[in-house]
Amino acid sequence: MTKVLYPGSFDPLTRGHMNIIDQASDLFDEVVIAVLKNPYKKDSLFTVEERIQMINELYSRMNNIKVISSSSAAIDVALLYECKAIIRGLRSLSDYDYEVQLQQINKDMSDNKINTICLFADKEYQFISSSMVKEVMRLGKDISKYVDPIVEKSMILKKRDIYGRF
Ligand code: ADP
Repeated sequence: MTKVLYPGSFDPLTRGHMNIIDQASDLFDEVVIAVLKNPYKKDSLFTVEERIQMINELYSRMNNIKVISSSSAAIDVALLYECKAIIRGLRSLSDYDYEVQLQQINKDMSDNKINTICLFADKEYQFISSSMVKEVMRLGKDISKYVDPIVEKSMILKKRDIYGRF
């Protein structure tokens, strides 16, 4: 059985992430989505618990998708959950340099045990990023093309909560 880890911030999960998850769950037996806590990213919109709840709501009926959170390094999570590889999504050349470095350091730190597999989002999702969606929401524009209705609803409620902070 081939299990893979898809780590990220997912603040929030977009249709771009969902496209990568669809592809990974077609290719592999199990996909573990790991919402990683990054103490250096202080300006998150959603708490890790809120992100997990939304992702669980979206994938609870898929028995080959599991959602977890961790403050450990992605390679340690991959080893802990016995994942064969880490999945990352590539949007453009600007993602490439960072992802190359990340896969090299992960391979090195895991003594060559953990490889990274990059998947490409379909064309219509390639420009979507969590930060762009948050900016579109802040501007009061329609975000429904970029996130699932479950995420859209949570973003609208969150915006009401923190209105004034933007
Ligand atoms: P991180 O902070 O680890 O980059 P993100 O949640 O921003 O976490 O992204 C997680 C992964 O998903 C990364 O590999 C990122 O490149 C990929 N990703 C994000 N948005 C898209 C998209 N629209 N198409 C393809 N891959 C994407």
